[in-house]
Amino acid sequence: MAFADLHLHSRFSDGTYGPEELAEQARRYGLAAIALTDHDSVEGCPGTAQACEAAAIEFIPGIELTAEQLTEIARFQAVRQNRIREMVERLNRMSVPLSADAVFALANCRAPGRPHVARALVAAGLCQSLDEAFERFLKKNRPAWVPKFKMSGEKAIELIHQAGGVAVLAHPGLNRTDEVIPSMVEAGMDGIECFHTKHSTVTTERYLELANRFHLLVTGGSDCHGKNKGKPLIGTVKVPYQYVEKLKARAAEIKTATLSHASQ
Ligand SMILES: [Zn+2]
Repeated sequence: MAFADLHLHSRFSDGTYGPEELAEQARRYGLAAIALTDHDSVEGCPGTAQACEAAAIEFIPGIELTAEQLTEIARFQAVRQNRIREMVERLNRMSVPLSADAVFALANCRAPGRPHVARALVAAGLCQSLDEAFERFLKKNRPAWVPKFKMSGEKAIELIHQAGGVAVLAHPGLNRTDEVIPSMVEAGMDGIECFHTKHSTVTTERYLELANRFHLLVTGGSDCHGKNKGKPLIGTVKVPYQYVEKLKARAAEIKTATLSHASQ
């Protein structure tokens, strides 16, 4: 039976292996196929493709995109807080003496937004009502409006599809954001990573079931980062090749759809 490891990092993100070492390790563990999924980068793909070809291993180019809402909630919250500061700065430039701290105190949460600014304006007696705060300052294209940061899961899916790729949610068992899965499916997400080093058997079973329920592709991999954390993980998670076949079939469909869309 043939196996694949579809989640690997190289020195082009935060791993230690170069292309030749990756191919060599894959050969050593008898893998039929590997995917390189560096963080926010595809720089290592051409070299690894070449090294894999020389070692007669199938290579699948990939990327592990950071979709802020899903995986880096704390950073996303910082972005929201900066947006508040920027809105307050704009108000100050219009001689509206609101302080960011007043907004944060009123919001009393980590993900403040425009309604909190509006309420702070009313509380400080700078506006008569929430409606007035939005109409005068905060509505889209009003002077204190600041565009919202976007690199949502939906956007990530769109980008991946435009590049002819298959969009898969990485290690859902670590993200603790299962509640977003239905809306991601709605947005066109193709699959979820069920097999992962840090997924227990129970967790893997749960996501296999979920994949089945939402008609999602199943992927998996070791998430090996090379030698920096003790014994390398490559080859410790073995994904049956049948899942790779399904993945490739979907990729072919996406490419056809992208091409016909581009030619319209
Ligand atoms: Zn990873």
